Amino acid sequence: MGNTIQVKNPATGNILKEVDVTSAADIEKALKQGDEAFKSWSKVNAHERSNLLKKWSAKIKEETEQLAEVMTLESGKPLKESRGEVAYAASYIDWYAEEAKRIYGRTIPSHSESKRIVVTKEPVGLVAAITPWNFPAAMMTRKAAPALAAGCTFVVKPAEETPLTTIRLVQLAHEVGIPENVVQYVNGYGADVGPIFTDSPLVRKITFTGSTPVGKLLMKNSAATMKHVSMELGGHAPLIVAKDADIDFAVEQTLASKFRNAGQTCICANRVLVHEAIADEFSEKLTARVKELKVGNGLVEQTDVGPVINATGYEKIHTQIEDAVGKGANVLYGHKYDKDDEKGYYFVHPTVLENVGEGMSIMQEETFGPVIPLTTFRENEEAVEIANNTPFGLAAYFFTNDYRTGIYYQENLKFGILGWNDGAPSAAHAPFGGMKESGIGREGGPEGIEPYIETKYLSIGGIE
Ligand code: NAD
Repeated sequence: MGNTIQVKNPATGNILKEVDVTSAADIEKALKQGDEAFKSWSKVNAHERSNLLKKWSAKIKEETEQLAEVMTLESGKPLKESRGEVAYAASYIDWYAEEAKRIYGRTIPSHSESKRIVVTKEPVGLVAAITPWNFPAAMMTRKAAPALAAGCTFVVKPAEETPLTTIRLVQLAHEVGIPENVVQYVNGYGADVGPIFTDSPLVRKITFTGSTPVGKLLMKNSAATMKHVSMELGGHAPLIVAKDADIDFAVEQTLASKFRNAGQTCICANRVLVHEAIADEFSEKLTARVKELKVGNGLVEQTDVGPVINATGYEKIHTQIEDAVGKGANVLYGHKYDKDDEKGYYFVHPTVLENVGEGMSIMQEETFGPVIPLTTFRENEEAVEIANNTPFGLAAYFFTNDYRTGIYYQENLKFGILGWNDGAPSAAHAPFGGMKESGIGREGGPEGIEPYIETKYLSIGGIE
């Protein structure tokens, strides 16, 4: 392992900070501390844990501007989105501060007069989290809040691109009185830290958000010690615009779904399927709106679309666009890059492509960039077939004002999150997560605390 990681501003390539890589010995030490702290934290009563979480959330909201600036500097996302993410991150803590008080056991009617059966709930233990760079605050709190609420202790390894937001969130937790060993961070490269987390018998649960190959590896490596796992992985979201949809509304929602975080969101609309009867009107209106988006440094208030995270991200998007154009896709707008390999910044201008087909990689793989591939369909059955033709199953969107069509899509799309006339379905009170190779488990809502809880049952006999 190297000794430091350079955290860079993706808008300029400038180095923001060098953070120390946590040594293997210090990671082991953090795990031991977390395991030891579990003994006392799991016994802190739920109301006290709830109060501490509320104080943490309040502190985060107080520091919105500072946190948002750090997030924009290290991730490149526009400042207005970073502010939104701080509020979104805090909303998970608020939600789980309440859920902490609703972890109920139950009694089971006994089969014998001399027995009683009681079901109790317990926290699973020490949780190790690995988070991505695209939502450095929300992906951390979406895991830490239910863990702490349930009585678990928590160690997080943020993405090497964006550790600064996470470090500040952990410091704020300590400032409000959450004990230091209850929530900790370690820094390092995934391939180095991952095995230490998965090999340790002290870690009882791994929670991960990131790419599907890494998720599979973590799951496999967690098997030896039979850890609980939660996996939020890649997506390949279809967005379907039916014949009767409100086109103007669908255009606005497509923009909101696609260009947030320069398209680097696992639930981004990745394939836009429009009924052929309205395809011309939709693409014309969409292209007109895409032309209005301002590309630039996220620190500039007017910026709508920032840089992509790094050279690897850029290469993936660039390859997909060029593959589509090479195979006959028609460029309606964009297809323009602004990059400097030496300095290390990469902007992909919002791009709209039509006439895309199943044989193009953009229709097969997650894009993670500000590109809209447009294709058409004739029947709803055909749209569902194209939409489901992917190993991913995270989010899907459909726009229709006909309830029969809407119900048809709701019942036949194989995705964990559906937006019906809604391009932004995420909320702290709703269960976020995917089917198929998009992952296992849900985050948010009452479902989001279950992966941090063990069920124990007690049978009491000999009762006269
Ligand atoms: P990644 O999965 O490599 O990285 C995400 C996190 O996993 C980071 O903290 C990283 O350090 C860690 N990691 C990497 N290799 C690891 C390993 N062997 N063991 C344990 N942890 C490891 O993702 P990326 O390289 O940053 O992005 C690649 C692609 O992944 C993107 O283009 C996108 O398709 C997808 N992705 C999805 C999400 C999501 O929200 N679902 C987030 C980020 C990236």
